[in-house]
Formats: sequence, structure tokens, C-alpha cells
Amino acid sequence: MGATRIVFLGPPGAGKGTQAKRVVVDLGLEHLSTGDILREEVARSTGLGKKAKGFMDRGELVPDDLIIDMIRGRIERAKKGFVLDGFPRTVAQAEALDRISTLDAVVNIDLARAEVVRRLTARRVCRACGTIYNLGFNLAAGTTRCEACGGELYQRDDDQPSVIENRYDVYERSTAPLIAFYRARGLLKPVDGKLGSDRVFAEVMRILAA
Ligand code: ADP
Ligand code: ADP
Ligand code: ZN
Repeated sequence: MGATRIVFLGPPGAGKGTQAKRVVVDLGLEHLSTGDILREEVARSTGLGKKAKGFMDRGELVPDDLIIDMIRGRIERAKKGFVLDGFPRTVAQAEALDRISTLDAVVNIDLARAEVVRRLTARRVCRACGTIYNLGFNLAAGTTRCEACGGELYQRDDDQPSVIENRYDVYERSTAPLIAFYRARGLLKPVDGKLGSDRVFAEVMRILAA
């Protein structure tokens, strides 16, 4: 029996969203992206969205209690299993997750800072279907429409060089300690994020089937 309760860990831009979208289709799991949920709350100007926006624009983490309240029910309702993408991001969030669900695997997709900056400045996302593109490898310069659905492509507000640098600092300070946290629990599965997207996907699927 393969893994069904999965966390994707890694710096911003490592490819967590790209891989999570493929993995959930193949394995029939729920994709739970805290970044996507937050961006939707911001777009709808909900109470949570209003509280979260400033943190997100600066590349800081949204406070733990808000995130945990936001994600708990969704994890509990994902009866067939889930891929958590962007959660947990702090030790306090990981401890809260321990109280909500057990996990089968934590896939750590690693990527160095210089490559993160390169990738995120070139990231474009479809506003309609959420497909993730990159000017560096799967999107021709000047393309404005999504190849999958024709939706408008946009650049995230936080994908600017100064905010990206801060997000990487925040990752190193607050999220990287989770590598040791999950290694100590025997759950950590390292993957090299520099590989091409198809190679990363094959590696992730091999790990999750084991
Ligand atoms: P994350 O969810 O970890 O922030 P994304 O999946 O959004 O990362 O990927 C960040 C950017 O890098 C996107 O523009 C995406 O198209 C691109 N990307 C993802 N995986 C790879 C890869 N293996 N090689 C090159 N570029 C990639
Ligand atoms: P990336 O693609 O760079 O990994 P995400 O889309 O996962 O970024 O997150 C975007 C922003 O949303 C983060 O910079 C942070 O402000 C907020 N955020 C997302 N997930 C969390 C979390 N688990 N804890 C706190 N803040 C979060
Ligand atoms: Zn689209």
C-alpha cells in the first residue's frame, strides 16, 4: 500500500505545486495548498484574507494560529488522503499537524537560493485553472494565455526579487528546521529539485509507491 498522507516540503520555487498537481491526479488524493487557499481568501477579501495579505506581500509567514484553523478541517475531510503543499512551514505547525493526522511520507524537494530566484522571477500562473508555467522552460516569451484553458496568465505579487529573497530567508530560518524534525521521525524522503520536472515526478512516484 503506497503513501496517501503526504507532505511536500521545500523552499519557495522548488516545484512543490507543480509536482503536487500531478501526484494528486495519479493517486486520487486531495491537493491542499495553503498558498492557494490564502490567495483565494485575499481575492475574496474575507476576514482571513485581509489579515493575511500584508504578511504575504512582504514574504513573511501568516501567523500559525490562522493557518492551523484554516487547514485543520480540510485535512480531516480528505478521507482518501492528501498532499499538503506549503504546510507545515514552522515547527509549531508541524506539532499541530501531529495532533490532526498521522503522515506516511514527507517529500523534501530541495533547491538552492540562486535557482529559486531564477525560477520565481520567471513563474507565471493561470488565473482560471491554476496551471503553473515558467518562461525559462515551458512558456514562450510574450505568451499571455493558458495553453490548457485559455485563461489569463499573471505574475504573483510576491514573485519579485526583493520579496523572493526574503521568502528564502524566512524558509531557512523557520521552515528548514522541519527537515531534521521529520528525519528524526523516519519520514523524510529527499528529492533533488534541480532535475527536470518529469525526472522529479518519477522520483516522487517511486518514493510514494515504496
Ligand atoms: P513551489 O510550489 O515550490 O513554489 P512551483 O511548482 O510553483 O514551486 O514552481 C516554481 C517555478 O519553477 C514555476 O515557474 C515552475 O513552472 C518552475 N518549475 C517547477 N519545477 C521545475 C523543474 N523541475 N525544473 C524547472 N522549473 C521548474
Ligand atoms: P511558494 O510557492 O513560494 O512556496 P506559497 O504559495 O506556498 O509560496 O505561499 C505564499 C505565501 O502564503 C507565503 O509567503 C506566506 O506568506 C503564506 N503562506 C503559505 N503557506 C503558509 C504557511 N503554512 N504558514 C504561514 N504562511 C503561509
Ligand atoms: Zn488555465
